[in-house]
Order: sequence, then C-alpha cells, then structure tokens
Amino acid sequence: MAKIPTHDVIIVGGGAAGLSAGLVLARAQADVLIIDSGHPRNAPAHQMHGFLSRDGMDPKGFLEAGRREFVSYNGAIIHSTVSQAAGQAGSFRLTLDDGSAETTRAILVATGLSDDLSLVPGMHERWGTLVHHCPYCHGYEVSSQRISVIGGQAREMSIKQAGLLRRYSDAVTFVTNDIQLEQAERNRLEAIGVRIIEGLVTHLNGAFGTLTSIALSDGSVVDSDAVFIAPTQHPHDTLLRALGCSVSDVSGLVTTDGFGQTSVPGVWAAGNVVSPTAQVITAAGAGGASAIAINGWLLHHDIDAAVAARN
Ligand SMILES: Cc1cc2nc3c(=O)[nH]c(=O)nc-3n(C[C@H](O)[C@H](O)[C@H](O)COP(=O)(O)OP(=O)(O)OC[C@H]3O[C@@H](n4cnc5c(N)ncnc54)[C@H](O)[C@@H]3O)c2cc1C
Repeated sequence: MAKIPTHDVIIVGGGAAGLSAGLVLARAQADVLIIDSGHPRNAPAHQMHGFLSRDGMDPKGFLEAGRREFVSYNGAIIHSTVSQAAGQAGSFRLTLDDGSAETTRAILVATGLSDDLSLVPGMHERWGTLVHHCPYCHGYEVSSQRISVIGGQAREMSIKQAGLLRRYSDAVTFVTNDIQLEQAERNRLEAIGVRIIEGLVTHLNGAFGTLTSIALSDGSVVDSDAVFIAPTQHPHDTLLRALGCSVSDVSGLVTTDGFGQTSVPGVWAAGNVVSPTAQVITAAGAGGASAIAINGWLLHHDIDAAVAARN
C-alpha cells in the first residue's frame, strides 16, 4: 500500500507569493508546509513600494509579518532549499539540501527569479539602493535626480524605462551600451527630452555605497544620482521542469492557467517564477489565487475518496 503523504501542500519558497498562499491554505485548515531558503528578490532594497497599505515598508519586516500570520494558523516553515522534486498528483516527494525528504499531495512552487547583475561592474553592490530595474517601485524616490538608464540585456524594457523615467526627472540620460536604437526609437525618446548617449559602459563610479557617475569606454563619464537597467532574469524553475511542467516556446516560461495550475496535475506555480513582471502585490495575489485553487482540488479528491470508501 502506498505511503500516505505527510502534508496536504508543500509550498517551495516563502516570499510574497508563497506566504500569501500559505496563509490562505492554513486558514482553510490544510496541512501546509513552507520550505524557504530565505533569499527573496527584493531583499537588497530598504523599502517596498506600491503595495496598498504597506507602501514604504521594509521588505524584511513585510515577510516577517507574513511568517507570523502564517504560523499563527498552525502553518509550518522549514528554512532550507528544495533540491529535487518527483512524483505525481497525490504523492510527491521533495528532497531538501540536507538529504532529508518531505512528502505531499500537492506542490506550489513560488521560488522567484534571479536578476543577472553581471553586465556592469559595480551594479551588484548598489542593487536596490542606487541601481534599480523598476520605475514603479523606485522611480518616485529618485524624482528630480540625475537618472541614467543603461541599455540592459532586456532591450524593449530598457527603452521603455528611459521613457517612463522622464516623468520623474528632467535629467534622464539613456546610455545605449549594447543596444542599437532604430531612428524611430531615438526620435521618440528625444521628443520627450531623454538625452541619448551611444557608448559602452565600463563601470560605475563612487565609493562603497555611493554613486557619482557611470564610466564609458571612451573615458567620458555621465554624472548620475541613480541608475536603472533591465537585466536578464532567470526564473528559479528547475523543480517545475524536473516535474515535467510545460514551457512556453514564446516566453520560455513555465505555463500556468489563471490560477497557477501547471500542465502537471497537483503542481501549481505563482509569483516571479512564472511571472517575472509581478510586483509584490501581484505575486501575493497570485499566491492567494493558487491557494484557493489547490484547496478546491484537495477537497475534490477528498470527496472522491470518501465516496469510494462508502461504496
Ligand atoms: C531590488 C528590488 C527591489 C524591488 N522593489 C519592489 C517594490 O518596491 N515593490 C514591488 O512591488 N516589487 C518590488 N520588487 C519586485 C519583488 O521583489 C517581487 O515582485 C517579489 O519578490 C516576487 O515575490 P515571489 O514570492 O514571487 O519571489 P521572492 O520574493 O523572490 O521569494 C522567493 C523565495 O523562494 C525561495 N527559494 C528559491 N528557490 C528555492 C528552493 N529551491 N527551495 C526553497 N526556497 C527557495 C527564495 O529564497 C525566496 O525566499 C523589487 C525587486 C528587486 C530586485
């Protein structure tokens, strides 16, 4: 006889998406375990913006509050990394990096993504404080400052950033870096007052924790108070792929329906791992929506089992 899984749901990842899902599931009286390695994407930032009623909150404090709420409903958290996932609907086995294993009927993967900060030396140590990617998260805070947008690996987003940031400042410079602008793109940016410099960025200048300018390969510098860049993003979707979840040919992302259900029964995904543009509030919303779908799925299977047992 197959061993009964220990948990109804294991959530891999305890950021905004995972904790929101955990809260809903724990309140629904499910046996839910969150396994989290503790590196949420926005950890380098001192403030979180754009989350109604939480605007300006410290991202760490936000997650601490979420964890307190989750455990107050008997939710369990393990601080660890899930390295492997296998099984099928109703019976999954997750292996943690210390070699231990947990079993579960359903899985929600909410593991987020990594931003590739290797393009320009000096970005990593300023990420989230002086170097940003999201005008909606940090544009307001750099209003009226000298903003440089460095052409990043994500071409369209880089050009969009330069346009969006013009709303906040009269001093926006787009340094093209590896991006070749079409004449029409150049015209559109210049028409709204974005200064364009064609040149390769070599590094960022400023003592540790500060930024004075960005340095170009021709020896010139662009004085800057803040930098924006659109880097390549790497979703942490190894577990989803190992479980056989379908991936879109177009986006390269694991596909889900509107409630986070992947192509594999019993496996859900929410937040940045499947939706790189999700902000904290939308990642949390996706987690909550997935939780409701998972709970409905569990109930359906519980009723099926009860009916079978009665007949
Ligand atoms: C610098 C910066 C600032 C930002 N500022 C804002 C802002 O002001 N407002 C806003 O709305 N958005 C902001 N964002 C975006 C925000 O970070 C994301 O929207 C949000 O983190 C997505 O939540 P998530 O739960 O999907 O992923 P995350 O918050 O990244 O959480 C994923 C969790 O999964 C864990 N994990 C990963 N793999 C495993 C594994 N194998 N096993 C166990 N655990 C694992 C990670 O350690 C992490 O704790 C910012 C992003 C950055 C980079």
